[in-house]
Amino acid sequence: MKILVINCGSSSLKYQFIDMQNEEVIAKGLAERIGIDGSVLKHQPKDSDKIIIERPMPTHKEALQTVVDALTDKDYGVIKDMGEITAVGHRVVHAGEKFAYSVVLKEEVMNALKECIDIAPLHNPPNIMGIEACRQIMPGVTMVGVFDTAFHQTMPKEAYIYAIPYELYEKYRIRRYGFHGTSHKYVSERAAVILGKPLEELKLITCHLGNGASITAVKYGRSVDTSMGFTPLEGLAMGTRCGDIDPAIIKYLHDKENINVAQIDGILNKKSGVLGISGVSNDFRDIEEASNNGNERAKLALDVYVYKVRKYIGAYAAVMNGVDAVVFTAGLGENSASMRSAICKDMCFFGIELDEVKNKIMGKEADLSKDGSKVKVLLIPTNEELMIARDTMRLVSK
Ligand code: ADP
Repeated sequence: MKILVINCGSSSLKYQFIDMQNEEVIAKGLAERIGIDGSVLKHQPKDSDKIIIERPMPTHKEALQTVVDALTDKDYGVIKDMGEITAVGHRVVHAGEKFAYSVVLKEEVMNALKECIDIAPLHNPPNIMGIEACRQIMPGVTMVGVFDTAFHQTMPKEAYIYAIPYELYEKYRIRRYGFHGTSHKYVSERAAVILGKPLEELKLITCHLGNGASITAVKYGRSVDTSMGFTPLEGLAMGTRCGDIDPAIIKYLHDKENINVAQIDGILNKKSGVLGISGVSNDFRDIEEASNNGNERAKLALDVYVYKVRKYIGAYAAVMNGVDAVVFTAGLGENSASMRSAICKDMCFFGIELDEVKNKIMGKEADLSKDGSKVKVLLIPTNEELMIARDTMRLVSK
């Protein structure tokens, strides 16, 4: 069985084509600048050179057609025809309270996702465009939706209800949802395998630290709290997002700077986080370099980032009354030994002891904790695409 996994952004389409017999990626790529001049597909078949295809892609439909053409090309394609694509798994950001699991994308599901556009105006519309493009180009092929929010639907009410008038929850479903669920679920399952214990017996704190970042308390296999909220803006300081702030700042900024709410929203989403503090970049590699060269604001940005991660680890150890392992994943979590080291420093109260030598590793599954550390520190590269493909296969095989 071969499954195409698709992740659509507003002007991009990322994909992986996976042979589920051995869970091997046989081709992957990225279509960029969809709807903009200079649309291009970068297609990487397994074991051969990258192919660059420049072609107008006014919408996601043309982008997807270009992907299918690349997959079936007579020279560098990996399948003879589209019939070899058994099913398509779509990453969808927001399913609100409607879906706690992945589902086959039937008409009623599509309607439910459209109802979620209000609460995910940036993310759901391109996801939906990708699904609709697939339906046009591959009619009859089963499609599955895998939702970033689904894994967190197990949070108890006290973790997801905001302390605002309850009617606002009833009327608009304003509550905490959480994101990156597919990643938190994947690394939790891997952690159980690495630790050699059933997931149902483990208390894990999973740290997805990429450009967007979130931390989840996973108790006995279920998400019981996570740092992102109603939108991905809540929680940690991120590349460009502010994370937790006092909401009163919004009115204060409005009054002082004479700017409207949309402008403030732009500042908090796109100009804040480590970019905002450092003034250098949203990429941690640039900030670490600047900090090493003596840039004080770059150093402060890293200190703030680390401090917030540490606070959440402490909070989630309290929430679960203990922790068996802390897991690091995503761009920063997988690759930055210095940030992992700063985060785990002086955590022996919790029984978290990082081995600085083992910690030198990058991008590979590893146990980074000192021999005898009560709490394990694990590095587990995330694989959201594989998780989506597995869910898709499971639902198609039903
Ligand atoms: P996203 O999917 O949210 O865009 P990723 O998980 O790909 O993010 O993470 C990207 C981020 O990871 C980059 O912004 C960069 O700051 C960070 N990163 C990647 N490699 C390194 C590294 N070697 N050292 C420090 N940070 C890194």
